[in-house]
Amino acid sequence: SSSDDEGEEYLFKIVIIGDSAVGKSNLLSRYARNEFNMHSKATIGVEFQTQTLEIDGKEVKAQIWDTAGQERFRAVTSAYYRGSFGALVVYDITRRSTFDSISRWLDELKTHSDTAVAKILVGNKLDLDNIRDVSVEEGKSLAESEGLFFMETSALDSTNVKKAFDLVIREIYNNVS
Ligand code: GDP
Ligand code: MG
Repeated sequence: SSSDDEGEEYLFKIVIIGDSAVGKSNLLSRYARNEFNMHSKATIGVEFQTQTLEIDGKEVKAQIWDTAGQERFRAVTSAYYRGSFGALVVYDITRRSTFDSISRWLDELKTHSDTAVAKILVGNKLDLDNIRDVSVEEGKSLAESEGLFFMETSALDSTNVKKAFDLVIREIYNNVS
């Protein structure tokens, strides 16, 4: 269109970080393609998926990056973080060690980002509530003290997955618009 503001568009890079096997790749495939893989091995291949949302009548594109398994070798590179406006920082509610790693992931994010990053702490595998190892209160309290949004999700049964991603995207939009 030739009109001035009709074509306004936003493109935001968002990264997903957290220990190996917490469900990062499945959160993304659930959100972007409504797919889940019970036997997913280390993800190889797709670097990012793009999702488009409409906010305030504007087209907002989120380019969401997945680590492709580098986190197993503690080798997530600065290129991965570069230019990101948002982050999902993920742990597995059934494995305390993945919750204990969160502060390290937040430090790494801080080291590699040059702008304010909208962050949400995500406790994944909520469908495994019966073998939970980290309480909701602990998650909430960490999120509060670090100034993060917080949500528990299940990539398996879809609980809160769209909510978590959309929340980050809207927060970024609010920060820049
Ligand atoms: P990543 O290494 O963080 O990318 O984790 P993946 O997405 O590859 O998932 C690791 C394993 O956890 C796979 O066997 C998944 O099927 C499983 N998984 C991921 N999300 C969930 C979930 O929400 N609930 C359950 N029960 N399993 C999940
Ligand atoms: Mg993965």
